[in-house]
This record gives sequence, C-alpha cells and structure tokens, in this order.
Amino acid sequence: MSKPTYYGVDHHVGQTPLLRLKKLSELTGCEILGKAEYMNPGGSVKDRAAWGIITDAEASGALQPGATIVEGTAGNTGIGLTVIGQSRGYKSVIVIPDTQAPEKITLLRTLGAEVRPVPAKPYKDPGNYNHIARRLAGENGWFWANQFDNTANRDAHYRTTGPEIWEQTAGTVTAFVASVGTGGTLAGTSNYLKERNPAVQAVCADPYGAAMWSWFTNGNTDTDDGDSIAEGIGQGRVTKNLEGLKVDNAFRIPDQEALSIVYQLLREEGIFVGLSSGINVAGAVRQAIAGGPGQTIVTILCDSGHKYQSKLFNPEWLRENALDPEAAVEEVLGV
Ligand code: PMP
Repeated sequence: MSKPTYYGVDHHVGQTPLLRLKKLSELTGCEILGKAEYMNPGGSVKDRAAWGIITDAEASGALQPGATIVEGTAGNTGIGLTVIGQSRGYKSVIVIPDTQAPEKITLLRTLGAEVRPVPAKPYKDPGNYNHIARRLAGENGWFWANQFDNTANRDAHYRTTGPEIWEQTAGTVTAFVASVGTGGTLAGTSNYLKERNPAVQAVCADPYGAAMWSWFTNGNTDTDDGDSIAEGIGQGRVTKNLEGLKVDNAFRIPDQEALSIVYQLLREEGIFVGLSSGINVAGAVRQAIAGGPGQTIVTILCDSGHKYQSKLFNPEWLRENALDPEAAVEEVLGV
C-alpha cells in the first residue's frame, strides 16, 4: 500500500453529504435533497468562498505570506476566512453589522479575528460595512476579500459545489435552489449544472426585504418590500457574482414558512440549521409544487442553528417577532 497523504482543514472544505429531507420528499413526491454545508470546517457554505478567494489571491500574488485579510461580512465568510486563514498563516479583520447574532461576533473573536462591529447601513451609504472594509484595506495595506464582487467566490462553487451535486445525484438533478447573499452559491453551482445538462433548472429563493425575486422575475430591483430576520441573505443589487446568471424560477418566502421548516427539520429529521436554510428548503418545496412530482431538487443547508440560539431557538424572541415555532409545516406550505 502506498503511504497515505494527510491534510489540514483547508483541504477539507466541501465534499459535504447530500441529505434526503424525508418528510418533505414524501409530501411532494420529489426527492428534496439538502447539501449539508454546516458540516464544513468553519460551519457554513461560506467556507467554500473563503477557500476560493484565498487560494485565488495566493495564486495571483495579491495575498502575501503573513498578510492580513479584511472583509465585510454578516459573519460566516468572516468565520471561513479566519479558520482557513489561521491554517495558512494569515490574520483577519472582520467588519460586521451590529445587528447580526451575537453568537457570530463572539465566535469570530474566539477564533482569533479582530472584530469591528459597525452600525447597519444600506449599501449606498459610505458607512456600509463593505465600504468600511474596502477603505481599511487601502489604508493599511491589507487584502480585501471582497466576497460580493470577487468572482473567485462564484468560481469556488463552479469548481466544487456543482461537480459534487452532479456526482452525488449521478447526473439526475433536475433543479438547484438557493437564496442569495453574494450570489456566489446560486450562480457558480447553477452555471456548472446547466453546463452539464441545460435542462437543470436554476431557482432563486428570496426572503422579503430583498430584490432578487424582482430582478430575476421582472429584470429590475424595484420590489424590495417587507422584511426578514434571515441573516447572510437578502440582496438588493446585482453583484459581480450574479452578473449573467439567468434563473428559471424565483420564489419569495415569508419567514414563517422558513421557520416552520427549520423546526420540522430539527424535530423530525435531526437537522439543526439556521433560517437561510429554511428559506432554501421552502424554495425547494415551491419548486416541487410548481413542477410536480418526480423531480430531484437540490438545495443548500447553509449553516448550523448553533449561531442563532438566542434568536431562532429562543421562544421569547420568536414571540416578540411574531413567529410561531409550533405552526405545522404542512399547513404553512400547503402540501
Ligand atoms: N446563508 C447564510 C447563513 C450565509 O451566511 C450566506 C452568505 N452570506 C448565504 C446563505 C448566501 O450565500 P451566497 O453569499 O453564496 O449567496
């Protein structure tokens, strides 16, 4: 036998299991499958983007040994950049809106990032967390990861998530569903799957308070009404990672629908995830209803529920936000 080769965490991003969501599959007559991205080393789908951005910047020379990486992030990209950064000798500075779950800020600090919480501001405001990260990079000579417009993010999904789903479904996947933060997951994965089989449908699941449903349905970002408590998703502009992407279907998902799914997965399937995963799975169910039985629909289980204990899994907080963890999934989804 030849001598085995062993690797550290930065070589173990991806290759996540594809889980059958039993109840929703049975209710819809489709295979509804969730890619368990919460099993990545940093605990989310954003490890792929972090790995892709770091690896690309190393190859181009933009990232030099011992450098500092700065990023504006809702948390998960920061966690990925910090975990993979630690394993490759980089420091990280994370600019995060102070509206995000306190668990993420505490975790980032524990992991060794320098965290700078800032007031949440819209993208057009110079005080928006992304603009602050860009300015800090310029002022200090740091590397700005720029996850929204750096297409190494999308490329990571094209090179890893797409091929994994193709192989895990033996080429039988009929639709891929994802919500949009940067759009890296939806664009990179859909582009790969459509290249393998143009009949694979790309589907966007959008929370309220975002403009992606409007963009994909009407070609403008005019409709962004309502609101959502989902973290890490909810985009109002067409990022570089989204440019050129055409989707076949887009659905708007109310938070209650996503929450009922999160609790159903937790109580009946042993799957503990955050609200963006609920939005994604709700989108998969909408796709199942729209296209009918017999489809093989893959979506993303983005991150674990651990980071949202004080919110999503806190009955008092749910009551204050008019969300009901007891609402039956069949009723809420109409399946
Ligand atoms: N879910 C969560 C919890 C996230 O943190 C993110 C990324 N911010 C996403 C979904 C969306 O992923 P992407 O940036 O690839 O669109």
